[in-house]
Amino acid sequence: MTTDVLRVARILHGTTAEGPRLRSAIWFQGCSIRCTGCINPHLFIPSGGCDVRVSDIVLGALAGEVEGLTLIGGEPFDQPSAGAKLAREAQEHGLGVIAFSGYEYEALRDRDADTREFLAGIDLLVDGPYQAWNQEKDRALVGSTNQRFIHISDRYRSYRPEIAANRVDIRVRPDGSVEVAGFLNTENLQNLAEATGTGRKARRGPAM
Ligand code: SF4
Repeated sequence: MTTDVLRVARILHGTTAEGPRLRSAIWFQGCSIRCTGCINPHLFIPSGGCDVRVSDIVLGALAGEVEGLTLIGGEPFDQPSAGAKLAREAQEHGLGVIAFSGYEYEALRDRDADTREFLAGIDLLVDGPYQAWNQEKDRALVGSTNQRFIHISDRYRSYRPEIAANRVDIRVRPDGSVEVAGFLNTENLQNLAEATGTGRKARRGPAM
């Protein structure tokens, strides 16, 4: 059954920390994979976060004049129906879609129709669970060496994670709160958390 409501933990329009060019990052709430060492265990439970209409996410992205969406989490493919609708609407408005998943592409491809439709709306899939014992040291955006960049369309074919830099987006709100997005290794993550008092909000695994 198709739904136009997503359960999300956070949305950040206009960031350069979650993939190439300016992006809207959507953190899906809920993850059934639960990798050991995941930096975002607060996103595991599906009842956290809040409901957001797909059309409102796309409108926000268009207002932010971003190049595309980055779908992270949590696990985007734990909400395949609304995820497919989001990807399709984004595509219809000319936005690119990058999605991170702890599932491998082959497993997703063999799942239900919603999942296949979701895949069809994605330009670049970064797949595979976070493996704490296989730390990635060279490529941007991923936390472990097993994770793959799978180009479903040619839109991001020129993106080279082996030469791209990881970026961190740090925003201080008027109320003094600090919001962090992007990818940090464990040491830098800890240093940032201590410096800002933000706790473990930044990303280490594949789908945060
Ligand atoms: S790393 Fe990603 S797939 Fe693994 S538990 Fe964390 S959110 Fe889920």
